[in-house]
Formats: sequence, C-alpha cells, structure tokens
Amino acid sequence: MRKKIVAGNWKMNNDLSQTQDLLASLKTQVIPEDVSVMVGPSFTNLYQAFQSLKDHPIEVIAQNMHQSSEGAYTGEVSAPMLRSVGITTVILGHSERRAYFNENDALLAEKVNTALDNDMKVIFCFGEELDERKANNHFNIVKSQLEKGLFHISKEHWSNIVLAYEPVWAIGTGETASPEQAQEMHSFVRKTIASEYTSQIAENVSILYGGSVKPNNAAEIFGKEDVDGGLIGGAALDAQSFMAIVNGF
Ligand code: PGA
Repeated sequence: MRKKIVAGNWKMNNDLSQTQDLLASLKTQVIPEDVSVMVGPSFTNLYQAFQSLKDHPIEVIAQNMHQSSEGAYTGEVSAPMLRSVGITTVILGHSERRAYFNENDALLAEKVNTALDNDMKVIFCFGEELDERKANNHFNIVKSQLEKGLFHISKEHWSNIVLAYEPVWAIGTGETASPEQAQEMHSFVRKTIASEYTSQIAENVSILYGGSVKPNNAAEIFGKEDVDGGLIGGAALDAQSFMAIVNGF
C-alpha cells in the first residue's frame, strides 16, 4: 500500500506569530491515522514549528535547501542545518524555485544527492507550463524533468522519494487540472519509473498532485487510482481548509 500524503507548502507566508497561530489551530484537529500530514513553514519558523509539533503526528518539512552541505554561500541553508532543527524532509524542484531562482534540472540533481546523502526525504516537484501542454508536449517535459533531475538515484533511494506533479498553469491560479488529467499524468509517471527502474518501485512511490487543490475538489482528485495525495499551497494557510483537504481521501 502506498502512503497517502497531504503536504502544505506555506511558501513565503506567515511570520512567527502567524505560524504559531496556524500551528495552534492545526493542533486542535484530528489527524486521520492513514494519512501522513506535513506542513512547510519558512526557514525562520522551522525550529519553532518542529518544537511545537514534536509530540504531534503532523511532520514539519522544509521548502528548499542548498546543494552544498556547508560553506561560503551567503544567505543559504544546508541539509545538516535542517536536520539539526529536526527537519528530515525537503521539497525540491518547486516550479517557483525553477522559474524565479533559476533552478535547473542539473542543479536539482545535485540537491537531490545532497538531501539523500544527509538522510533526508525528498518531495520532488515537476510539471509542465501552459504552452507546453497546449503544444501537447507535457509528457515529454515531465519525462525529461524526471530523467535529468531524479533518475540518476539508485533503486535503494526510492524509499526516500515522494513525487509531486504540479502543472505550472494550475499553481495559484484557481485552475485545477481535471482529475482525469492528473490521473493520466500520474499513470504516465508510474509507467516511466517502471521502465527505468522496477514495477515495484513504481507501485510503491507516492505521487502527489499540486495546483489549486481546495476542499471542494480534493476528494475527486484524491479518488483517482494513481493520485496519492496533494501538495497544497494557498489552501494550506487556513487550518479548516487544509484539514478538509486532508479528509478528502
Ligand atoms: P496552490 O499551490 O495550491 O496555491 O495552487 C500549490 C503549490 O505551489 O505547491
């Protein structure tokens, strides 16, 4: 059985007191036992969030990290630093990192290696832009992102990988991929992994969908065979909405 996962990506939202408020609301909620629930506050709030959720089933994750484990990289945060405050999962390859911070496939491959070398789990994001979908090139784009950013890892490392398909045109736009479009891509990804690695690896990896998932569409999307949960942006900033999504399975 694949793990069901709902992860909230808070992006560059919530200062310390807003983070504390949101965590306090989340802590009053009942977390279903069969869903791994995660939240990703900004770097400055990770320590506080980890401490606050220490005895709680919600896991605190990071939104990004640097590809080097240490050194003269002003303004950056390393995998060992994340681990030192209790964080063992990191989101890599989010489309906003790719688009606004020039993170290309080669850099992401390095980041994946550094995360795995530091015993961290990776939520690896990928997805096509609108013009690529319109040109019917979305399968090629996704395949290439996976091949260049991820498919260098060994079979053993797949247990530390979660995938997140996030079509760029659906992120923060209110425009969701239809459940059928999500299923079609997730199934394609699983087949691609099966042919590159093994069918067992393909069957076991959780593939999340991300892009305008809301309480009113989560159940339909999560109901698809190859969709194992979601990476949630905007709707993760409100405890009630986020939990309604978590309960969408
Ligand atoms: P959204 O963001 O839910 O606000 O569309 C998803 C994401 O960027 O992970």
